[in-house]
Amino acid sequence: MLERQKMPEQDPKVRRTNFKEVALGFTEKQAIDEAARCLQCKKPKCVEGCPVEVKIPVFIKHIANGDFDSAIKEIKVDNALPAICGRVCPQETQCEASCILNKKGTSVSIGRLERFVADMEKDHGTREKPHSSGKKVAIVGSGPAGLTAAADLAKTGHSVTIFEALHAAGGVLTYGIPEFRLPKKIVETDVEYVKKLGVTLLLDSVIGKLETVDDLLMQFDAVFLGTGAGLPVFLNIDGENLNGVYSANEFLTRVNLMKSFLFPDHDTPIRKGKNVVVVGGGNVAMDSARCALRLGADNVTIVYRRGEKELPARAEEIEHAKEEGIKFRLLTNPVRIIGDAKNWVTHIECINMYLCEPDGSGRCKPMPLAGSEHRIEADVIIIAIGTSPNPLVPRTTGGLEITKQGTVVARKDGATTKTGVYAGGDAVTGSATVISAMGAGKKAARAIDEYLKNMPVA
Ligand code: FAD
Ligand code: SF4
Repeated sequence: MLERQKMPEQDPKVRRTNFKEVALGFTEKQAIDEAARCLQCKKPKCVEGCPVEVKIPVFIKHIANGDFDSAIKEIKVDNALPAICGRVCPQETQCEASCILNKKGTSVSIGRLERFVADMEKDHGTREKPHSSGKKVAIVGSGPAGLTAAADLAKTGHSVTIFEALHAAGGVLTYGIPEFRLPKKIVETDVEYVKKLGVTLLLDSVIGKLETVDDLLMQFDAVFLGTGAGLPVFLNIDGENLNGVYSANEFLTRVNLMKSFLFPDHDTPIRKGKNVVVVGGGNVAMDSARCALRLGADNVTIVYRRGEKELPARAEEIEHAKEEGIKFRLLTNPVRIIGDAKNWVTHIECINMYLCEPDGSGRCKPMPLAGSEHRIEADVIIIAIGTSPNPLVPRTTGGLEITKQGTVVARKDGATTKTGVYAGGDAVTGSATVISAMGAGKKAARAIDEYLKNMPVA
């Protein structure tokens, strides 16, 4: 059998100074060779591992035969955003984890093949418009959950309008994930595809301020809430309000959405630290650290309270961060942030941690090691320890039950406690993944379609 193909990448020494895409994509030959490694299992486990159930062996067979058009058409039946998923899905814990070849650690590179055919697609065309159902659906939020629900509902003939608070569509794909991992033109192309399906996109439209969900229910037959989890969580330690301390959300929004990395063409201010400390170990932490490096930092250190194998980021992002020179201080937790007389941050004080025996949930609790306090020099600190849902929509929507954590209570099919209102993605689960948000959008679209079919004609 052929070896797993290696993705060509920008050299780490070069890429740490620019915001261009790190992974360059398979060549045609590599894609065909990689596709030829698929065993075409009769009962493919990989499909079960994909939250939107892409027919993986079918599209891979088309690639092996050099028929890239058929491959992308097949993927788009189930997945409206393949160029995005191919880049950012944590495949190692999803489709590729279930690939039979993964037993030997050499699963087929499903995500990279998906990315390859999505990038090869020329016309980004759509199928014929379905017969109109006469029903109208409002989608709140244009992240992966909202875009997927919108695409699926439009495909079944419903009239769909997306309300997006920001001036650009895509949610975290646009304001959070950096250009070097997910070029914004890829997101724009996928958003255009959803619009070509007939979906209307209204930007700068904050639901809860402009109109409430109840107002939307007067104009639409159903509403889907895909409002994400964009509210940063803080450490709640002394010094967190010093100058130079950012939430990852603010830092990444300044860099990505407001394009501060393109100074002087874009004049969004950002503090370019020399010694940057990022607190957290997920994708958000890796993205913040790698952005800080590209903005010109000499030292970027990730501080994470658990160990290497507990790091929740995608394996590829951790590897790339290390290759680029990001330092990792594992089993380390901040206890306070220290500043100078002008309230600018100068140091972060941390304590070493150890992991005790796994608790009932199977996770090892990190515990502080008394007397191990130490300081790390820092002129910028970025807090990337998680987010929770924005409370605006729940606060302004009567009858919508929410949990103590602020997430919307919804059934598996997305139905909330308010008739005609469905929800999915990070707004329901808390911060998760692109593909799980898409899976939720897909399930909700099915349930909304059923709901609308059973609705009496006005
Ligand atoms: P979001 O993407 O958050 O979109 C919600 C949208 O709703 C936003 O555009 C917001 O502006 C809008 N909105 C909110 N409130 C309102 C309102 N009241 N009115 C109108 N619009 C509103 N996942 C992965 O799988 N792989 C990765 O590599 C990865 N990297 C990540 C990196 C970063 C920096 C971050 C922050 C997250 C990352 N994730 C990753 C997680 C993933 O991006 C999210 O799980 C996913 O985007 C959730 O999708 P969503 O549609 O539920 O919400
Ligand atoms: Fe794998 Fe994600 Fe593609 Fe599904 S959408 S096949 S999980 S890469």
